[in-house]
This record gives sequence, structure tokens and C-alpha cells, in this order.
Amino acid sequence: MTTIAFIGLGHMGGPMAANLVKAGHEVLGYDLVASLRDASAQDGVSIAASAKEAVARAEVVITMLPMGKHVLAVWADVLPAARKGTLFIDSSTIDVESARKAHALAAEAGMASLDAPVSGGVGGAKAASLTFMAGGSDEAFARAKPVLEAMGRKIVHCGPAGNGQAAKICNNMILGISMIGVCEAFALGEKLGLSHQALFDVASTSSGQCWSLTSYCPVPGPVPTSPANNDYKPGFAAALMLKDLKLSQEAALAAGAATPMGAEAAQLYALYAGAGHGEADFSGIIHFLRGLGAVEATKA
Ligand code: NAD
Repeated sequence: MTTIAFIGLGHMGGPMAANLVKAGHEVLGYDLVASLRDASAQDGVSIAASAKEAVARAEVVITMLPMGKHVLAVWADVLPAARKGTLFIDSSTIDVESARKAHALAAEAGMASLDAPVSGGVGGAKAASLTFMAGGSDEAFARAKPVLEAMGRKIVHCGPAGNGQAAKICNNMILGISMIGVCEAFALGEKLGLSHQALFDVASTSSGQCWSLTSYCPVPGPVPTSPANNDYKPGFAAALMLKDLKLSQEAALAAGAATPMGAEAAQLYALYAGAGHGEADFSGIIHFLRGLGAVEATKA
């Protein structure tokens, strides 16, 4: 059993903390929102009076917060309260630069650290089937692995500090681009008189096959569990896809990488979210690609 402080008990952090409890760990939780603290207490999390109080007794600290600025602020606040050598793990999706700054803060304070963002969404968080992509030293990874295994099915060490975030934004850039490609193909198929099922049956077993098609098919029918069958309720919200695409573009700019399709995908999701669809599943962008009238007619 490990004593774990868990800061950020939201959509992802709540079920992740609950799975740590189920695995037999002692979990000391904190969130700014009282109702989330109460919900986690129902799951067996011991609620602390502050993030600092949660961290003081912990061997491992996990943060699951919205953005880089939140992670840096929380780590700066709680690092002085932690015991030397405590392992800090950030599982939020944040920019690579902030992730590397967080590692530096931890090292200065005499702590071990890992960036370990996740893929798999709220469903994966609840089912303890997340994929973790980790950046940090071999020692930090080895210490974190048994803890992460209580929340995920696949734990990948991607290299040194920040490389977990790098893997996450590269993966999600592929996802954003591929979803737009799949949506364009269905919109074109419709105009050519091709049924959704026929296009799915061909593309899902041909070279067009990809996760956006086979798991999140953007039209109702071929994949019954895809958000398209549930009024495009997320799933994976378009606003979160936009956040990740923006992170990929910030990183591309900083690294001097050309990512023209990623840039285009970011612009299209900015337009779609800006038209009031940020809370819809990201596959809902098919309405936008059929034309603005279609978006308004099917506002999710
Ligand atoms: P969320 O907004 O539901 O949860 C974040 C929580 O952090 C909130 O409950 C908030 O009150 C809390 N918080 C903020 N500042 C705090 C502070 N100073 N001290 C304590 N608590 C604080 O977000 P989420 O959907 O759980 O996502 C968390 C992270 O995981 C994000 O970076 C997101 O991009 C990433 N992510 C989300 C998904 C998803 O499907 N929701 C999937 C993969 C990755």
C-alpha cells in the first residue's frame, strides 16, 4: 500500500482516485470544488483541508488539473510541504514547456517527478484502462509504474522529462487530423450517393482504416457505440480536442517543426468550437464540414 495525495478530483481525477482506493492504496484527496470532494469521499478518498495537507504525508503525489499554469501553481505551493524524495506525477495534459518547468521545480525541491498524461477519456478513467505516456528518469518511472497500473492498462515510458506530454500531443494531432479526414470522406460519399454503411464496410477494412473511423465513426449506424448515435454528446469534447491541437501547434512553433495539417485541424476546431459546439463530441465537426447550415440545424 502506498500513501498517495491526489489533487484535482474532476471528470478524470475523481474516478482515477477511486481506482487507487480500490487497489488498496491510501488516498488523500483535494479539489477546489466542495461537491467533488464530497463525491470522492463517497469513493473512499480521505479528503484533506488543503492541497498542502494532502501532500505532507504522501509518498506519491498525483495532479490532474486543467492546464500548465494550474500545475505549476499547485506544484510551487505544495512542494515545500512534501517530504524529501516524494514522487510527483502530473497526469494533466499540458504544454511541454510547463511540464519541463514542473520537473525543474521538483528537482530543486529534492523530489522525483514524472509527466504522465493519459489517453482513454472518462470511460478509461472509470474502467482503469487508461494509457499512460510517461516522461522522466528510469528510477521515477519504475517507482510510478505500480501506482499507474491501478488506473491504466498500458504504461509507456517515452523518455526524459516532458516526453510524455510530447507523445500525448503528437497522438492527439493525428487524432484531430484523422477525424477531419474521415468526416470529409463521409460528406463526399453522401454527395456521391454512397451509403454510410457501404463506405464504412470498405474503409474499415482498407487503407483508410483508423480509430476515428472504427471507434468514433462520425455518422450514426456503423459503430453503434460512437457518439454520433447519441446526439454527438461526448465522448471527447471538441473543446478538449481544440486544447490539444493548440498545444501541438505551440510545441511545433517552439521546436521549428512544420505541421501544416495540424495547423489546419486546429483552425477548423477553433471555428467549430467558436460556433458554439465546444461541448459536442469532436466527431460532430462532420456537420460543419457539410456546411454551416447543417451545423445550425443539428446544434449539439
Ligand atoms: P476537470 O476540469 O473536470 O478537472 C480538473 C479539476 O482540477 C477540477 O475539478 C478543478 O476544480 C480542479 N482544480 C483546479 N485548480 C485546482 C487547485 N489549485 N487545487 C485543487 N484542484 C484544482 O478536467 P478533466 O476532464 O478531469 O481533465 C483534467 C486533465 O486531463 C486536463 O488537462 C485534460 O486536458 C486532461 N484529459 C482529459 C480527458 C477527458 O476526456 N476529460 C482525457 C484525457 C486527458
